[in-house]
Amino acid sequence: MKETGDDRNMNEIRREPLLGRWVAVLSESMKPEDYLSSMEPSAGGHCDLCGEESGGAEEIYSVRDESGKWLVRVLPAMVPVFSPEGDLGRKGIGIYDRMNAIGVNEMLIESPQHNVQPEDMGPDQMLRVVEAFSARMTELEKDVRVRHIMIHKNCGIPSGDACGHPHSLITATPVIPKRVKEELDGAKQYYEYKERCIFCDIMREEERLKERVVMETPYFLVFCPYAARFPFEFWILPRIHNCSFRDVTEEEKRDLSETLSIMFKKLRRLLKNPPYNYVLHTAPSRIPRRNHWHTLGEDFHWHIEVMPRIKSIGSFELGSGMYTLTTSPEDAAKYLKEVSHGD
Ligand SMILES: [Zn+2]
Ligand SMILES: [Zn+2]
Repeated sequence: MKETGDDRNMNEIRREPLLGRWVAVLSESMKPEDYLSSMEPSAGGHCDLCGEESGGAEEIYSVRDESGKWLVRVLPAMVPVFSPEGDLGRKGIGIYDRMNAIGVNEMLIESPQHNVQPEDMGPDQMLRVVEAFSARMTELEKDVRVRHIMIHKNCGIPSGDACGHPHSLITATPVIPKRVKEELDGAKQYYEYKERCIFCDIMREEERLKERVVMETPYFLVFCPYAARFPFEFWILPRIHNCSFRDVTEEEKRDLSETLSIMFKKLRRLLKNPPYNYVLHTAPSRIPRRNHWHTLGEDFHWHIEVMPRIKSIGSFELGSGMYTLTTSPEDAAKYLKEVSHGD
């Protein structure tokens, strides 16, 4: 463990100098044996997310029924990487850049029931989840140190979903993560060239061709991207151009919760409960700062990417960043469209 003045006990983020990728480094290293014990199945079946207990953590947000029982709640993550206390402590060490891991890790518990996903609890429950996403994002964006907020979920992923109780994650970071930055830069370049939003253009093209469209709802288009990374990957795009999820309307929230419910049910039926990840990509904090660009509102378009993890990532993908689609997006869309979401 390092003890360096103001930064003691604080995790840090480091910028990889070649590609500009930020990585978080814990101040207290896990020992080799810690990795071995975390791979063992949890004993006793006790779940810290069930019931009113919160393991001593202070509840950040909740929606409760008339009897006072919570239906959706947000707690601090069990092992937070980012901390809301302190300053950014940005500094250079020789050629390297680092800063304190200032930010927030929150856990949104999507259901009081241990083994039930929110999409199985009726339309109102999924709506509560979507509303909680929106409420937390609005609140977290007020912190000037926060540069980007990502909502994401590891469902059934052994390395990222240890507890089994349905939950998603909200991570606020003091930098824009590389993967998000690449999307923002790509969208900005396209806009500079064509003066149109690339996502709106993609949507128009997909609606015209129809061959990768899974679902069209009043406010959303669901389709398998032309050059996806994972078999059966699909994206959910709002039809009305909007760079930030923070500005989502009530009608869109309701439609999105229904769309997510239908799509997760389809995915489960088609691939027998596959592990999956999803991420919600939205515009970074729009508090003006250096490198701020004025076309952000026009060039970026918030969206959700759902990535089934039915095929492992191997050496070629790791070494090249190039993926192989063993089911074409056209066929994947056809399967997803045809499979019923009914019970
Ligand atoms: Zn539980
Ligand atoms: Zn757009």
